[in-house]
Amino acid sequence: QQPYGLDIWGDQNFIIRDGKAHINYKSSPALIDITTQIRSEGITGPVILRFPHLIAKQIDALYGHFTRAIEENHYQGRFKAVFPLKVNQYPEVVKSIVEAGREHGYGLEAGSKAELILAMANTPTGSPITVNGFKDVEMITMGFLAAQMGHNITLTIEGIGELESIIEVAENTSFRVPNIGIRIRLHSGGSGIWAKSGGMQAKFGLTSTELLEAFDLLKRHNLLDRFTMLHFHIGSQMDEIAPLKRALREAGNIYAELKRMGADALRAINIGGGLSVEYAQHPTQRVRNYSLKEFANDVVFLLGGIMRAKGVEHPNIVTESGRFITASHAVLVTPVLELFSHDYQERSLKLKEVNPPLIEELLELNNMLTSGNSIEYLHDALDHLESLLKLFELGYIDLQDRSNAETLVHLIIKRALYLKQSNQLPEIERLQERLQERYLVNSSFFQSMPDYWGLKQHFPVMPLDRLEQPAIRAASLWDITCDSDGEIGFDPKAPLYLHDVDLDVEEYFLGFFNVGAYQETLGMHHNLFSHPSEATVLIDDDGYRFTNLDEAEDILEILDNLEYDPATVLKQLETRIAESEFMTKEENRDTLSTLKHFLAQNGYLRTTK
Ligand code: PLP
Repeated sequence: QQPYGLDIWGDQNFIIRDGKAHINYKSSPALIDITTQIRSEGITGPVILRFPHLIAKQIDALYGHFTRAIEENHYQGRFKAVFPLKVNQYPEVVKSIVEAGREHGYGLEAGSKAELILAMANTPTGSPITVNGFKDVEMITMGFLAAQMGHNITLTIEGIGELESIIEVAENTSFRVPNIGIRIRLHSGGSGIWAKSGGMQAKFGLTSTELLEAFDLLKRHNLLDRFTMLHFHIGSQMDEIAPLKRALREAGNIYAELKRMGADALRAINIGGGLSVEYAQHPTQRVRNYSLKEFANDVVFLLGGIMRAKGVEHPNIVTESGRFITASHAVLVTPVLELFSHDYQERSLKLKEVNPPLIEELLELNNMLTSGNSIEYLHDALDHLESLLKLFELGYIDLQDRSNAETLVHLIIKRALYLKQSNQLPEIERLQERLQERYLVNSSFFQSMPDYWGLKQHFPVMPLDRLEQPAIRAASLWDITCDSDGEIGFDPKAPLYLHDVDLDVEEYFLGFFNVGAYQETLGMHHNLFSHPSEATVLIDDDGYRFTNLDEAEDILEILDNLEYDPATVLKQLETRIAESEFMTKEENRDTLSTLKHFLAQNGYLRTTK
């Protein structure tokens, strides 16, 4: 198995060479070298690295598999797809999607007014736009305007009220009427933690009774010729393929019935999203039980079969999977700021002329440790530490003795773990769990991995270098928010081991992978940590270049976003400084200019090395 489960979640996007994680594409630069370059340009703190070639890879794979399945099954309908903007609306992402998708006619899906404007501005003419979610008359009117602009737009109604609004706009304006889609509420639900989008309890979609009512309304208002698409979505990150098959059978039959009833313009089934991404780092944690190939085969085969049986023309197939398209393109790189046991280095030992006997024994254990006795000595050391802490409580040893004891025991732990690293005895595992190291990372999990906070969704994590060296410390990760929820604890069922590093002399960076879907705009500004810095990295045969290098907001911008007026904040600071009794005029000036310097920096902690 590859280190850090790269063969499970990596999809061959990264390779390990000379102990470094490289991008497995063209000149294959190392992530650590890209990071170092960004930092040399003065950008510190966490950085999101974007790789547009990975977005293109996913779009090509999606179209490639459906095109192949369509050919193999002699399917008559065409394949079309849209990217749901809610998955990632960041400009660099949308730009990459539109560029890579142009040759395929890839479109965009919108679920709000702001997203619809993005779709109207960015979708190439002719490529589809679909609009889901609740809509008011204004949003529906925007859809009409998009049609008027020449867009191939489908408004998917989520309830009868929306259809009534469409009818109202159609009757009261002269704008072109967009295509109309109907989302159906299926009996079949999805699977996985996002499964509640499907099933009879789902938030969206029409029941069969409502569907018949909608059909009737469309007919009465002469809009049947605009009703072109049937839509369903059974939930994001679908673990298993079986629920999709059930949903396809149900939706396929509803489609065939509608055709039979006279829905002549109906020509597409939109199967929503659901294509999952592998986030697991350990074989036992894998959840997805299908591949894109199987997914495409099933959709095409099942729909083809139903339509053949019912004597109905094959519908076009539309998908809205977005997680699958963008998750892999983004890597969050975070510097490690501190190791909890950082101070337990040999140099911090301050031994006395005469030490308590148990300290002398710890010294001896440390000196005599070998691979043969390491476990036994480790047990002894832990035992001695207990006794020494007791002695401290009772006042028999002083703070210096206690510090020496803690340092010695940590040195013994580290050396014992090194000596036993290739030997994963259950006892070693138990000890590692007990002796976890806490790594403080310069980022906010609330901001950068909100699905970890909200849903305990795991994201693969791997150091960017030292991958040829043994990683022996059972690691829990702490972010820099003042919130104890900002911790990714050590999980013995899916253990994370990291390197023992001395941050006084070296840097250590962790990459969090597959963070390109949903995390960025779902991210919270808890403690006022903002969206991290970001860099778009274009890789070619000779190297790489940044097409965008954007530092995270500075402190005044963060406050501005919260509706504070930066000028007022500055004025308040100036007044406070002027009123201070503790400063000379010159110190006043210095204080203000130092503060202004800090206000112009991004809000993350600065690692100075
Ligand atoms: N389409 C609709 C209607 C959705 O609600 C969603 C998300 O849940 C998607 C598409 C995107 O699905 P996925 O997250 O599987 O890419």
